[in-house]
Amino acid sequence: MKVYNFEDDPKQPLANIDEQYMQEALKLARKAFEEDEIPIGAIIVSNGKIIGKGYNMTERLNDVTAHAEMQAFTAAANYLGGKYLKDCTLYVTVEPCVMCAGASYWTQISKIVYGARDEKRGYSSIHEKIIHPKTIIQSGVLEKDCAELMMSFFRNKR
Ligand SMILES: [Zn+2]
Repeated sequence: MKVYNFEDDPKQPLANIDEQYMQEALKLARKAFEEDEIPIGAIIVSNGKIIGKGYNMTERLNDVTAHAEMQAFTAAANYLGGKYLKDCTLYVTVEPCVMCAGASYWTQISKIVYGARDEKRGYSSIHEKIIHPKTIIQSGVLEKDCAELMMSFFRNKR
């Protein structure tokens, strides 16, 4: 096992790993943006490997459930050949809604890392207990980039 010594290597703190993965989720969010979908992207990481990706496709699929996280959960479960996502981390650019948080409960995913908060539709402003008690939550990773993408999308819509 590799242990990071923060003092020896200040340029490479552990938090950067989360930012690197969030960058990958942001790439997918930008892809959604280009396709005129609400720009949210998600990836699922297991043992340092990306095993599921998704971005919002509600317009393309004409399906209100086609959120980035739902696509990523399905892809990861297909990859693993099992429905549970233990020892996996979901990176998503915007706080999950109650539907996706509810789905994450059923996957028993180990950790969720999200970028921007969603004050209106985010699960935490509605009911925090939707999340599985074993799931660790981390918020605010590349928050500014994630939020700005959303803001510029909705600015264009007006
Ligand atoms: Zn959702």
